[in-house]
Amino acid sequence: MDGLSLYIHSPFCRKRCAYCSFVSYAGRESDIPAYTEALKTEIALRRIPGAEIKTLYFGGGTPSLIPANNLLDILTTIKEYYTLPEGAEITLEANPGTVDPEYFKALRASGVNRLSLGVQSLDDAELALLGRMHSSDAALEAIDQAKKAGFDNISADFIYGIPGRTPGIWEAMLRKIVELGVQHISLYGLTLEEDTPMFERVKRGEIAAPNQDATASEYETAEEILADYGYRQYEISNWSLPGFESRHNLACWERMPYIGLGVAAHSFVDSRRIANTSDLDEYLGCLKAGGLPTQTVEIIDGPGALSEALFLGLRLNRGVAAGDIQSQFGIDLYSRFSGEINELVSLGLLESNGAIIKLTPRGRLLGNEVFIRFLS
Ligand code: SF4
Repeated sequence: MDGLSLYIHSPFCRKRCAYCSFVSYAGRESDIPAYTEALKTEIALRRIPGAEIKTLYFGGGTPSLIPANNLLDILTTIKEYYTLPEGAEITLEANPGTVDPEYFKALRASGVNRLSLGVQSLDDAELALLGRMHSSDAALEAIDQAKKAGFDNISADFIYGIPGRTPGIWEAMLRKIVELGVQHISLYGLTLEEDTPMFERVKRGEIAAPNQDATASEYETAEEILADYGYRQYEISNWSLPGFESRHNLACWERMPYIGLGVAAHSFVDSRRIANTSDLDEYLGCLKAGGLPTQTVEIIDGPGALSEALFLGLRLNRGVAAGDIQSQFGIDLYSRFSGEINELVSLGLLESNGAIIKLTPRGRLLGNEVFIRFLS
């Protein structure tokens, strides 16, 4: 198989952020050596003989809590079972509060060539509200250290829609980050998830809930500022300088095959979506006994695959080409979805030139309203 992507999930975090609903474990760092061994076993069990890896992504959780020697061990095992060519994109998500110059140098030496830094904000009061473990200075320092260690493909994640933020604060932090020369920026709207400390604080009336108008306005401000600095938006939440799009994430949105390894990781191979257990102890126990940690397997074909191709494709700024849908599914997009397309165009959420449909700027703000129309 050509062009496989690998995703490795690291579920460890030093502390839980106030808004977090991801699968992550605080206070379990002593399990990292056992987790490394479990990952090595899973790499071997899920191998696809002869496959070449196009992109490799360490996500989390906080992958930068994994010591460099453990990462090297994982990479060495991957190379035992797969071809990992020189030009493969190898990304690691890093939390600014967990890194130092030596760590960055060790990452570069091991072959990691792209960093995704969880900056989230450059305002200390906001970082405290989010329950992040780093300060604004630590984030700026991490970018500087990464550049000095030789990273020339750095992404910074930010959160928009933080209660209490003024337009001036947001604009200033966007300008600051682009002037530091990061090549890629991801922006995620703050969502209030039940059972998080932030949700409870909002419920008790201690802090305001994210305001929809302010959230939309911050998104529009970001679109303008990033375009001014030469960043191109290529997906609802992602902007990059030309040539620095995340190849890994593009492969997922294009429904290319990927294997996910680790707690709560998902794979997509041969129309099957495989989900691993989200329970760290179950994961470790399964792999120790030599078994796969699979929790569910779902076949994604027919109408389900078509819906997925449409809503993932519409996330991309280039949109969905009717020709691609015809060749993949044997379906005429404009006949099959004429009602939906006409309605969404008249609402100003979708634009169409007769060959391609794509979200309008307003459609990007209200993406879920569009995607739901294409669900099977
Ligand atoms: S670092 Fe990320 S995964 Fe970990 S607790 Fe914070 S938001 Fe959740």
